[in-house]
Amino acid sequence: MLSLKLPQLLQVHQVPRVFWEDGIMSGYRRPTSSALDCVLSSFQMTNETVNIWTHFLPTWYFLWRLLALAGGPGFRAEPYHWPLLVFLLPACLYPFASCCAHTFSSMSPRARHICYFLDYGALSLYSLGCAFPYAAYSMPASWLHGRLHQFFVPAAALNSFLCTGLSCYSRFLELESPGLSKVLRTAAFAYPFLFDNLPLFYRLGLCWGRGHSCGQEALSTSHGYHLFCALLTGFLFASHLPERLAPGRFDYIGHSHQLFHICAVLGTHFQLEAVLADMGSRRAWLATQEPALGLAGTVATLVLAVAGNLLIIAAFTASLLRAPSTCPLLQGGPLEGGTQAKQQ
Ligand SMILES: [Zn+2]
Repeated sequence: MLSLKLPQLLQVHQVPRVFWEDGIMSGYRRPTSSALDCVLSSFQMTNETVNIWTHFLPTWYFLWRLLALAGGPGFRAEPYHWPLLVFLLPACLYPFASCCAHTFSSMSPRARHICYFLDYGALSLYSLGCAFPYAAYSMPASWLHGRLHQFFVPAAALNSFLCTGLSCYSRFLELESPGLSKVLRTAAFAYPFLFDNLPLFYRLGLCWGRGHSCGQEALSTSHGYHLFCALLTGFLFASHLPERLAPGRFDYIGHSHQLFHICAVLGTHFQLEAVLADMGSRRAWLATQEPALGLAGTVATLVLAVAGNLLIIAAFTASLLRAPSTCPLLQGGPLEGGTQAKQQ
């Protein structure tokens, strides 16, 4: 008879500190799992399973939206549509990178840090990706061809470096100064979000209380849903609610990171709808304007941003690889893990 023995899951005190998640008391995978164990664990109920699937499935949804739009008759041939397609590339990449990070983060402490470096890098590229359609379709009329409009995308590229650098660095403070680490990581993602959405905040200010009378500056309901989801995403990330109120109650289902993933992908979905709404409703007006960034500028910015972010991640990875194995951030690797397992 075929019997399937699932790997035993661990309690929080059975895994090294670097693997601990606030308010999550059980359901931890072995911190020295093999890559195959990690893949198989996505089919076993652990405290990471829902995290994995809540970003694996949306990856395919956004890829489907990208292919459906790009494959539409004449869609790709029109340069007007390209910023939307550029936005959708990192919108597919970030849930995929996150899904991989959650899947393989229990291979070793080093692998865990590197997985999340890549996750942060993909999120930074997503923050840059948002700037392309906002610069192309969502600028307030009075900002068109102004300084901010001209430098909007290059500034977003620089922001992505700052975001990756700061968020990766925050991992090094996680054990000694968890509060500061959290503040830095939250700021690393909040700042590019606030910058990217400046055009929307300005249009919101212009239209506040004026109903439909503000013409092309009017925001669609999808913009509202997107901003609301983004707010909720930030709140869940920073608050660790609900598990902070009842540690151990939400280990497998319902903890803040799962809700954070769901709000993030819902936010991206509404953001896509909002971009499509701006693209359609402002088209006749934008057709008379010169685009801020041509194809060459778009490709150059993307290539530089990807290369720069990879370099930053490589630098943090190198410093992690150079660190002695006695470094607290690396405790719980294969050697220490073996000793620990024997002690249990
Ligand atoms: Zn995540």
